Amino acid sequence: MSAPPSQRASQTVPSTRTVTTERYDFFRVIQSYLDEAARHVNVPEHVRGILREPKNELIVHFPVRMDNGEYRLFKGYRIQHSNILGPFKGGMRYHEHASLDDFKALAAMMTWKCALMNLPFGGGKGGIKFDPRGVSRDELGRITRRFFHALGSNIGPDYDVPAPDVGTNAQTMAWALDTYLNTVGMVHKTAASGVVTGKPVASGGTVGRETATGQGVVHCISEWARRTRFKLEGKKLIVQGFGNVGSNTAVILAALGVSLVAVGDHTGYLYNPEGFNVHRLKQYVAQNGSIAGYANGQKITREEFFAVQADIFVPAALENQIGATEAEALQVSLVAEGANGPCSPEGEAVLARRGIELLPDVLANAGGVTVSYYEWVQNKRSETWALEEVEERLEKAMLDAYDRMSQFAKTHNCGNRIACYGVALQRLVQVYVEREIFP
Ligand code: NAD
Repeated sequence: MSAPPSQRASQTVPSTRTVTTERYDFFRVIQSYLDEAARHVNVPEHVRGILREPKNELIVHFPVRMDNGEYRLFKGYRIQHSNILGPFKGGMRYHEHASLDDFKALAAMMTWKCALMNLPFGGGKGGIKFDPRGVSRDELGRITRRFFHALGSNIGPDYDVPAPDVGTNAQTMAWALDTYLNTVGMVHKTAASGVVTGKPVASGGTVGRETATGQGVVHCISEWARRTRFKLEGKKLIVQGFGNVGSNTAVILAALGVSLVAVGDHTGYLYNPEGFNVHRLKQYVAQNGSIAGYANGQKITREEFFAVQADIFVPAALENQIGATEAEALQVSLVAEGANGPCSPEGEAVLARRGIELLPDVLANAGGVTVSYYEWVQNKRSETWALEEVEERLEKAMLDAYDRMSQFAKTHNCGNRIACYGVALQRLVQVYVEREIFP
């Protein structure tokens, strides 16, 4: 085994840094990207004002009977940022640190993402502030059902279409769908099946959705590699977050000869210079809920993880994970944002100064919402598409969006993130100018 990363680290990250306990004004950061993009696009002041704020902010409180017979009150959110391009669209997150501010930021990002991808959707996001690992499966089902019942007709296949995010999955969407069909959508059951995406395939989901976000990340990395003449085979990868996005990205990259040498999740970090068997690790996490206790890796600290010598870093956990210190520590050529908002503006500035390239979240992780759109279309048309069709369409959609980003960045001499916001903004502004403001 080669020297552990701690002995090679050029920079260390203070181990006390747990981002979730620091105050990070995520929504303001997302607003600042809009302001920066607006310098490159002719945006009427009133349109910028509209897009800076969510259209609707919904907060619900609902009681749930727990397994011990006691009742617990939960707080749920649904932020509907924009529906000028189509129904609000975005995930539902279950996390103990979730906040209104985070959901506002994440909902706005969905508006930019859907506009960039040319999807007929707006942006939304929501969820519940609690730790889903701290309740039983039965409790999780009841919490989900009461939450979606409380949302009632504030969601709907042509109005607001939730999907999985951190702490939720296809099973969560199955409970959500069933609740909606048994209450609001009782009569028009077929038409109502598109109320959520990311459902299990048998319940009306689409093949290819489970892996779509990771696949989209890999399309972006491959396209970046092609354009920069960077040979992927034999390269090393580090991934933070080994849930849906992180694990699928690692598995798909492994097939291209890229090996995962360090990985982390909410329980800690592991290092294996020979490369992890990602299929086995994914299976282990599916059975055990985390990477904790996985035998084929050496435990390292968070600061050691960020200093591991590799080629590509895919953050796939939470926002605000790469601050200035982490960005100074990273020993990679490329950061591809699987997570939403993983780089703080300070972190991004350091990456730019150090010449580390960045593929921004609104493009890199847009494969998820793109295939969610395919699921929604199949539900609307009562169709079932083959995997090849989903995959072919996704690849084209990702490469076309990559090209729009690159063209904008070149024309306006700006970074990739602002280019993505710029492309999205052009589309949104055009619609506002054509339709004007009601009445
Ligand atoms: P998930 O719940 O499946 O996995 C989240 C992972 O992050 C887990 O491995 C968890 O242990 C880890 N994690 C949580 N807190 C952490 C911490 N403090 N430090 C290190 N690791 C931590 O969630 P997911 O669906 O894979 O989503 C991950 C990110 O990708 C989020 O930012 C989400 O918004 C974004 N995203 C997800 C999708 C999707 O289709 N699921 C689509 C686009 C973007």
